[in-house]
Amino acid sequence: MAFPERRSQLHLSRPYYRNKCVFRLLEHGLNAGHVSISGMWNRPITLASVVFLLVILSVPSFAADPFAADPADFTLKKIAEGIYAAIGSDGGRAGSNASFIVGSNGVVVVDTFEDAAPARDLLAEIRKVTNLPVRFVINTHYHLDHTGGNAVFAQAGATILAHRNVRGWVRTENLKFFRDPKPEQKAMVESLAQPDMVYTDAVDIYLGTRQIQVRYMLGHTGGDSVVIVPDANVVMAGDLVWQKHLPNLIDATTSDWVKTLEKLLADHPTATYVSGHGDVATVNDVRDFHDYLVTLREAVAKAQAAGKTDQALVDAVLPQLQEKYGKCDVPSSSSCWGFFKPFSTRNIMQTAAELNGTKKVPVPADKDGGGK
Ligand SMILES: [Zn+2]
Repeated sequence: MAFPERRSQLHLSRPYYRNKCVFRLLEHGLNAGHVSISGMWNRPITLASVVFLLVILSVPSFAADPFAADPADFTLKKIAEGIYAAIGSDGGRAGSNASFIVGSNGVVVVDTFEDAAPARDLLAEIRKVTNLPVRFVINTHYHLDHTGGNAVFAQAGATILAHRNVRGWVRTENLKFFRDPKPEQKAMVESLAQPDMVYTDAVDIYLGTRQIQVRYMLGHTGGDSVVIVPDANVVMAGDLVWQKHLPNLIDATTSDWVKTLEKLLADHPTATYVSGHGDVATVNDVRDFHDYLVTLREAVAKAQAAGKTDQALVDAVLPQLQEKYGKCDVPSSSSCWGFFKPFSTRNIMQTAAELNGTKKVPVPADKDGGGK
């Protein structure tokens, strides 16, 4: 379970360091239970170990892993004619899901993973499917695990499109995911490729004959969009839908989020959904996720009504969540959702803050679009 743990920490303000091979190696050695690199430092340094280190530190990161422990960064799934979901592995470098839509005169990519390497791999996969140009990238929200690969597609000629708050927040709010950002991490966030074009509520894209609807929806960050392909009955929901995974509520307003999910289910009752994390989602998965948020809100509200706060509130709510979502002693059980261990307590505390009116969420950078 080292990978989900490692993955989830990204959402919990751990540095985004995984594309640095030396840290990846140390993590594997220390956490994944393979070969312990840490033991090396206690032994006399031999020429062989120096050569070994020089070799592993000098090759590109995905070739640098001598333990071959990483799962593939993502799995490509064809979910409709000309529509592909790229499902990121928990703990892989993709960091989230992405997808792409092929029309008659071009391609639209939805989200770009967490960094350039898997984004380049995604572009290579698109090239195997079609030679049509990637004309647009849509960012479903500003979080780094969905925008980190933007530059790869911008360099390939795509126009990056997002809700105006994404442009306002992508280079600022992402810093909060680093506990104490190093200068190079700060520089990385501050140089993320921003959306070239923004909208307030909605935009339609015509890829030749194929219509793609982009719609702003509330709940997860205040700057989220879903992407709908009506002719295929597909909805790319970004992080508004987590498939059998607990969500990151750091920027969330769950009162709005529950309503958004109800609207999606009412408007698209038979669609195939691409989630932000987890697998491709069915309508039932979306309903289960809606029910998770409702369960969480109700349990927290009940504990608050009984006068509970802080640890007493967590102690009152956690067993209820554990019962439905945290039975992970049987890992394949439907009552074991991804990210339960790292997110459950935070979900409770963040919902408690929302319900008692103390939660801080990002505010629009300025009235006319934000960002510089
Ligand atoms: Zn995400």
